[in-house]
Parts: sequence; structure tokens; C-alpha cells
Amino acid sequence: MSPASRCRRGATGGVRGRGAVIRYTLVCAQDHRFEAWFAGADAFDDQIARGLVACAVCGDTGVRKTPMAPALRKPAPATPLSAPSNPVEKKLRALREKVEREADYVGPAFAREARSMHDGDTPFRPIWGEARIEEAKSLVEDGVPVAPLPRFGPAKPN
Ligand SMILES: [Zn+2]
Repeated sequence: MSPASRCRRGATGGVRGRGAVIRYTLVCAQDHRFEAWFAGADAFDDQIARGLVACAVCGDTGVRKTPMAPALRKPAPATPLSAPSNPVEKKLRALREKVEREADYVGPAFAREARSMHDGDTPFRPIWGEARIEEAKSLVEDGVPVAPLPRFGPAKPN
């Protein structure tokens, strides 16, 4: 006769929770962390109470569950720097793309070409290119309509 074991068997309720194993991350007194699987929360409590759960590293039986929600957080996704970040930048980018598509690229001859058209030496056409800052200033002072294009990405080396 073994009344204790019979009583125990009745208390655990037979097949309840079969297959529903749970995993705990455990930590021992030496702060070793390891994972262990249990048949359920009751089984975990029972095995802990009886000193059956030992640290996987040092064998210490003074283990406990780690607190939930560790302090590690995923960093926020990085913002791609090449994407227009606001409507204004989108418009500027569209403007630049329109100019590059529809205007003649004259490169470093821009100042000369712009002045030549302004003076009527050459027929007007939309152009774009590069000018040194003094050239651009000089054009503006002489009433030649020029506008800086918004620049994106790394500047071209001169
Ligand atoms: Zn340990």
C-alpha cells in the first residue's frame, strides 16, 4: 500500500497538459543562464522544490526563472539617407531630375553659355552645368537668370 503516491497521482490529473511543454530561461546563483524544458509550470515548481533542476554550467541547484522582458531592445530601423525625407526635398529632387532630363548639359562651360544666350549671341535653350561661385555671382549681377540646382549625394570632385 502506498497512499502517498496514489494521492499524488490523483492530484496531477492524469493527461492534463500533455504535449504542452514550456521553456524557461533559468539563472543560477553564479548568474549562469540556460534554458530548460518542463512539462508545465507545476512540473517546474515541483522539480525546483526538490532540487532536481541544476545549472547546466556549474551544477548549482539554486536556480530561478529569469525575469521576463529583458532590457534588450531592438534598435529602430535606420532611415535611408538617399530617400527624400519630406515633400520639399521630393519637389527639389523632381526639379533636378526634370532639368537633367530636359536641359542640355554644358558642364563647366555653363557660365559662358548662359552669358552668351543672355547677350543674344546664341539662341536660348535650357542648359545646366557647373559654375564656380564667382561665375555664378557674376551672372546674377549681370542679370543673367540662373539658379542653383539642389545637390544630392556626394559632391562631384572638381
Ligand atoms: Zn551556474
